[in-house]
Amino acid sequence: MIPMGLWGGQAELKLAKSYLPAFACPIMQADMEFGLNGTYEGLSAVIIPTICDTLRCMTQNWRFGVPTIPMIPIVYPQNRKSPASVDYLISEYETVLTVLSTVTGKMMNEAALCETIEIYNTHNAMMREFSRAANDHLDIITPVERHTVMKSAFFYEKSEHTAIVPNIVENLKTLPAYCCPDKRVILSGITCEPDELLEILRENGLCVVGDDLAQEMRQYRTDTPEKGGGGLRRLALQWNNRYGCSLIHELGKPRGKLLAELCRENEADGVICCLMKFCDPEEYDQPYYEADLRAGGYPCLTVEVDHLNAGYEQIRTRIQTFSEML
Ligand code: SF4
Repeated sequence: MIPMGLWGGQAELKLAKSYLPAFACPIMQADMEFGLNGTYEGLSAVIIPTICDTLRCMTQNWRFGVPTIPMIPIVYPQNRKSPASVDYLISEYETVLTVLSTVTGKMMNEAALCETIEIYNTHNAMMREFSRAANDHLDIITPVERHTVMKSAFFYEKSEHTAIVPNIVENLKTLPAYCCPDKRVILSGITCEPDELLEILRENGLCVVGDDLAQEMRQYRTDTPEKGGGGLRRLALQWNNRYGCSLIHELGKPRGKLLAELCRENEADGVICCLMKFCDPEEYDQPYYEADLRAGGYPCLTVEVDHLNAGYEQIRTRIQTFSEML
């Protein structure tokens, strides 16, 4: 099976309005519309983690609205300190595997699972390497190019993408490092799309030198441990090792420190928080990490991301002002 990420997109909402309230986030509004209007036809199944209120509703909406594509819910444990969380998550993964086996007619075996984990860990390392190498070539790896390399990972067979990215990195390394005159920023949030939004950064002399986006580097910073038991147990331990993410429960809100560290490592001048419209988990985190960043001397701009809105003039003005202040 080839896993693909469903991140919504630019859509005119017609059918989804019967299923979701107007204050659901634009990603889920668009995903629901694409499910209902047949855009996602061809998918064998959809896995929906019930990790926020909107996703929780999506499981039921999908089940009844898009019966042609089976929906597999998964509930992640939030009390990650309890040893029971590992056993519980293994049981959730076993349920997912059972449903997938009815879809594919094949059972996952331990050797295949361990091989897959290795491919994913190698891919994580490749993406981290790409992110570092890109910073020496910001003339070629513009914000749009960087995002394209990141997002393409959702539409390739994983080992294929793992083979492509080192080629990009090796080719970049053959070129002389570029001394970029632009201001350097870190992006945080769920996604920073579409390309029009990223182009505004470039127009205003800003380059992206790192990110904490859920769609981009946030998914590559925590490898699945090499030891710890069988494949499913190691996957469960990976969930427990995650940090700095709005979608997991963490005492002490470490995201601000993580972002400040990203700024230091990548010599960034500031952070742009791409706040997904109506995303509660991200909204809860934002005041905490903005305060931590300001205390650390890093300016932070928050802009609202909404793929369903085609107007970018307000954001353009705010980004222009931010760039002038850096
Ligand atoms: S976490 Fe935020 S962006 Fe993701 S589905 Fe929930 S509300 Fe939408």
